[in-house]
This record gives sequence, C-alpha cells and structure tokens, in this order.
Amino acid sequence: MSDIQRLVRDNIRRLKPYSCARDEYRGSRGIFLDANENSFGSVLDVGLNRYPDPHQLELKARIAAIRGTTPERVFLGNGSDEVIDLLIRVLCEPQRDKVMILPPTYGMYRVAADVNDVPVVETPLTAGFQLDLDKIFAQTEDVKLLFICSPNNPSGNLIREKDISTVLDNFDGVVVLDEAYMDFAPGQSWLPRLNQYRQLVIMQTFSKAWGLAGVRLGMAFADPEIIELLTKIKYPYNVSGSTQQLTLEALSYPDKKEEMVRRILAERKRLITELKGLTIVRTVYPSDANFLLVKFRDARQVFEYLREKQIVVRDRSTVIRCDNCLRITVGKPKENMTLIKTLEKFSGEHAETSEK
Ligand code: PMP
Repeated sequence: MSDIQRLVRDNIRRLKPYSCARDEYRGSRGIFLDANENSFGSVLDVGLNRYPDPHQLELKARIAAIRGTTPERVFLGNGSDEVIDLLIRVLCEPQRDKVMILPPTYGMYRVAADVNDVPVVETPLTAGFQLDLDKIFAQTEDVKLLFICSPNNPSGNLIREKDISTVLDNFDGVVVLDEAYMDFAPGQSWLPRLNQYRQLVIMQTFSKAWGLAGVRLGMAFADPEIIELLTKIKYPYNVSGSTQQLTLEALSYPDKKEEMVRRILAERKRLITELKGLTIVRTVYPSDANFLLVKFRDARQVFEYLREKQIVVRDRSTVIRCDNCLRITVGKPKENMTLIKTLEKFSGEHAETSEK
C-alpha cells in the first residue's frame, strides 16, 4: 500500500464511486438520450440544458497549462471550501483521526472537521503569526491532515518557507497549504515544488485576485493519487456548467487580474499609512494579502460604529491573538477614503476613550 493509501479511510478505499451517464461517452457530438435532460432546450437561452462535464477536462487542461503542471494534478471544486471538506472525508475516520489547525486561521477548517465529527487539535501561531514548530510536532499523534494558510487569514502574513519545509519533511500526514491570497504576496507559490512532496496539497481559488467569488471555483493541486481520491468521492457534477464556461472565459484575461492586483496593492499601502495616522489604531499588522488586520483601542465599539454607518468589516476580536482586532478588506479608493473619514469622525466623538 502506498504512503498515501495508508492514510485513507477504509470505506473510501473500498468505495465504488458513482458512475454518471457522461462517463460512458466522451465527445460533444451525438444524440444524447442517456441522462434524462430536457432535449428540447431550456427556459433560458444559455445552452445549459445538458449536464456539465463531470471531469472538467477543458478547464483543468487550461489551468494546468497556466500553472505549469498536468491535469492529473488538478482538482476543481465548488470553492476551496469543497476541497477542505472532501480532504477531511477522504482521510479522517470520524471520532478517531484528527485535523490540526493553527489559529488564528480560516474558520472553515474547523467547521468542516466539526461537521464530519473529526477531532481538531489547535496549535496557535506564535505572537508574530508564524508556526510554533515545537508545539506542532509535540501534538501530531493521530493527526492525518494539517492546514497551513499562507498568506494567513486573518493575520495577512506569509508563513516562513523554511518552517513549511520543516513541516513537510517531518510530518507524515497530508499538509494542506492554502494559498487563497498568494496573488497579493511578494512570495512565490509552492506549486513549482509540488512534485517534491507527495503529501502536499496546495489550494488556490478564483474568489480573490480573479474577482470571481460568485462563480465558486476552488482548485487543489496535488499528487495524482490524492486527486483521484478527491474525484472518487465528489458529487458527480460538482462544478456547474456556467462556472466552467465563465472561468474558461476569465482565463483569457490574466492581465486584467494583474492590473487589479496592482491597484489593490497600491490601495493597501495607502490604507496602511492612513490607518497608522489614527489615534484609535494601535497596530496595523503587515499584510501580504488583500486585507489588513488592525488592532484598535476598542474594536467592538469601532465595529458597531462602522456598522451603523453601513461600513461592514470583520470583527476578529474574540479570536486568539486577535484581541481588539478588526479585519478590513482593501476597498476601492473612494470606499477606503470613506472608511478613514468615518474612523476619524469616531475618533473625534470618542476623544476621551481614545486618549486613555
Ligand atoms: N481559504 C481562505 C484562507 C479563505 O480566506 C477563503 C475565503 N474567505 C477560502 C479559502 C474560501 O475560498 P472559496 O471562495 O474558494 O471557497
């Protein structure tokens, strides 16, 4: 049994996957009377009366070519959130095998584990939001899956590469590296190193830099054996026809993505300077993402005030290492200006509190 198969749940290893109508025939020409679709068409003139390609072959080929890898190393899901859930379901026997998360981090890792009744080991990041390697390695017993988010949400920073290497070299479960925000970072994706680590899964998404959160497309890059396992248990048509069409179209405009990233980075820089000038702000943490983690004197009060003014940010103040912190997405110039003006106004109205 391979080192990957050894990590897989027995029932998944034994599973005979659902075979869908379109598995029996490849090609778009023919008379299709196999899948109980509406042969007459659709109420909308959008060409979606047929089930989509369950294997997303065209899209995977394009993505693989752009990313410098091969289609067998690509899995596409209904957002990265689907990938997170599938990985847990492939590897973790409920109530027995564990998932390790490194808080403060993206909340769905825990939610997906909880839904699957899989125990979660929490190993908080250090005060500088880096990996606490000693504590990680002290707690890996029964851990099948370890989630590292880099750049990390909500702290915004990249995780040091040599620490990620140390984890990959010494942990014998699967390591998920969530690169949702990598387009905004000065660092490099780990994708070129994928072939060196059989137990590495890299997740990326179209929801951030590509500006397609509404389309719902997440990607996982991994060893073909891991990709096969995810494919085996996914819903047959997990990526809709409209998602496949729109993403294929979007991939023709990488320059537009780059241009938006440049604008977001320029705004991020400006927003950092403005926020640092406010008396109510204690710390603006360095960011390699499209958001900022900001420590205030009284985050909850600021959050409520902003909400009253219909400016919605994310309150992270109850999260470990984030007390009095709000997470603020970089907006458009006008939105950021309104945010700063509103915070200045708050500061003026709460002069007493802000001087304490
Ligand atoms: N990973 C991280 C770190 C995220 O912050 C998010 C969304 N906020 C996701 C994954 C989910 O991405 P998707 O929209 O592809 O499900």
